[in-house]
Amino acid sequence: MNTSKENLQNVTWSEKGQPISTHYGDMYFSIADGLAESRHVFIKHNQLPQRFNQLKENAHFIIGETGFGTGLNFLSTWQCWLDKAPSNAHLHFISTEKFPLNYQEIEQSLALWPTLEPLAIQLLEAYKKQFFGTNEPHHYQFVFGQITLNLIVDDACIGLKNLLPQQHPEFNQPLWQGVDAWFLDGFSPAKNPDMWSDELFNIIVLLSKKGASLTTYTAASSVRKGLEKYGFTINKKPGFGKKRELITAILSDNSYTQAVISSKKNQTPWAYNKNFANTENTQTPQKIAVIGAGLAGCHTAYALAKQGFQVDIFEANTEIASEGSGNPQAMLYAKLSANKEPLAEFNLACLLKAQSLYSTFWPSLDDKVLGESCGLLQLAYNSNIQKKQKALADRFQYSYFLNEVSQEKASLLAGIQLDHGGIYLPDSGWINPKALCTWLVKDQKITVQTHCLVKQLITHNTGTQQQWQLHIQKEESSSYTRVFDAVVICNAHTATTFEQTAWLPTKALRGQISCIASQDPIDQLKTVVTGENYIAPASHSPDTHHRFHTIGATYDLKNTHKQLTDSEHEKNIAQLNHLITSTQEQTIEVTGGRANLRCTSPDYLPLVGCVPDKKAVVEQFDGLKNDARATIHHEGTYLSNLYINTGHGSRGLAYTPMAAQLIASQLSKTPPPLPQPLIDALNPARFIIRGIKRKSINTPNS
Ligand code: SAM
Repeated sequence: MNTSKENLQNVTWSEKGQPISTHYGDMYFSIADGLAESRHVFIKHNQLPQRFNQLKENAHFIIGETGFGTGLNFLSTWQCWLDKAPSNAHLHFISTEKFPLNYQEIEQSLALWPTLEPLAIQLLEAYKKQFFGTNEPHHYQFVFGQITLNLIVDDACIGLKNLLPQQHPEFNQPLWQGVDAWFLDGFSPAKNPDMWSDELFNIIVLLSKKGASLTTYTAASSVRKGLEKYGFTINKKPGFGKKRELITAILSDNSYTQAVISSKKNQTPWAYNKNFANTENTQTPQKIAVIGAGLAGCHTAYALAKQGFQVDIFEANTEIASEGSGNPQAMLYAKLSANKEPLAEFNLACLLKAQSLYSTFWPSLDDKVLGESCGLLQLAYNSNIQKKQKALADRFQYSYFLNEVSQEKASLLAGIQLDHGGIYLPDSGWINPKALCTWLVKDQKITVQTHCLVKQLITHNTGTQQQWQLHIQKEESSSYTRVFDAVVICNAHTATTFEQTAWLPTKALRGQISCIASQDPIDQLKTVVTGENYIAPASHSPDTHHRFHTIGATYDLKNTHKQLTDSEHEKNIAQLNHLITSTQEQTIEVTGGRANLRCTSPDYLPLVGCVPDKKAVVEQFDGLKNDARATIHHEGTYLSNLYINTGHGSRGLAYTPMAAQLIASQLSKTPPPLPQPLIDALNPARFIIRGIKRKSINTPNS
């Protein structure tokens, strides 16, 4: 970690080297022995050793914590999990933190527990890579094998509310199975009453499974009464150390009826999908079909297999990654901004997730032919971009993952003379998408069927479960059908060939890249350089060993053919000369290129989630056409077990890991990787609702 960049100081240190909160003047854990306290209060009294031990293969267990602090409770839980849970079960640990400790504060605090060191190292490494270094609210997600930590930097009430649909008091249960066990750990109620408020207890109930357990080190009567009011049955047990008592509690069955989120104005809950809500009675799908083996499909299959699903991918081409994902070099680029609108926030979350996942892919490569974690420069090539980058750099000045660099520093990093400084993303780079897709589908739970065109999706009802029958054409001649519990459509703009998704407003946008021969000075290039266009460091073809760089790409709204054109090669070269002016005097030799179609959406956000039943949605929300702000007390209707993951434009490398993780969380009904407002921003039904409001969709009464 670049220590000179640390700004937060949320702790001071006691004489014994223990952290004390500067905000609350309270200790983070018992002076006597914090780890023993954590094990006694939270692990033992939530009966986690026994509960972990009894988990079935591939089961999910969800813990919620208020007050992440030093991460001690998380690590002691992780240790217990490794000891007791089946190796393929999944632990989801959600924690909130209003005043996140900086890297050094966490490192110093956790150094008190040498037995936790191997886990602390992993936590710290992930934290270093993603953490903004400020108190700015953000929904972080860190994945450690079977363990996923959702660390929500925010006030506990606000952060946890973002895990609820929030739009309407009658449609407010989480769209995933609830929390199994809670750790309430928010300093003493006398010093920090906000962490023990009725509002927070209310949200905790809404986020819980029936019968969820809860423990806290305090036995304050205000806490006991508050929890009882919201349906918890309280038990007192001996406390840790000098504390006489602690509270353990179980959520009684009827508690949900008492918990309601009040909002000033109810919104129409079109995004609420009751198929997702607390799901004890519905069967979780087991066998899943993914249509399309590009980046979206392969990432989806990978994320699903990691959750224990069995996945079959169907690809119309004879090879995977043959269409939009077929370029030799793709840049890990995201459009970051100081503004916090959904598109920018989605880009930010995607970049962090993609960098984290690819940090395990890059080391698997033998050499730099197929990808390189070489960093990426975004040059500030005009005053407008300079202004935007300045604001962005200010926002992330304490982060590790984004640095503002001068023209000299940028040139040094790039290994060649550049005319501008800009933003540097040290953990980014480039990847050959086909190599990545091959790596993603290696899991034994994934089967890839190439040269198989899925022509039709038909519902297939057996008993309690609705399944999908796929009509598949194999190698142009023979055809067959297969039945799956769920389907994820990942075939870019050709998703509109299916009856259920024919209405999607996606477009195919042609783009051409050029491959140019490596020569002085660009052969020295050490990082990806981007401006209006981009250039990657040299790769070489495995057969000829001929060194080349990918430059591009063009945007062609008029054509959808895939032939290469000279005029687009010329455009790419002109842009390169603008990006790296030292190439201007040279003759650039184009050695190849590729044109393909990217799938884009009208608001540039991808379409990720359950496929809505368009006809039903149009009928249900018809009233919005006369009053766009009206509240219609009805949830949206979605097709059971039919999902889509498309519309990634030219940002597939960045967007698809997050989109895939979201789909996997929806299918496994586990906590999502994004806050609910961003999930709603990706919901494909948004276009139907907007269409009704703008009267551009015919509704039954129009
Ligand atoms: N569980 C922690 C550990 O394992 O180190 C110790 C938690 S410490 C006793 C309480 C934590 O709650 C502090 O880190 C504090 O910043 C955080 N906190 C206090 N008020 C909060 C609020 N309203 N929302 C979220 N976090 C809060």
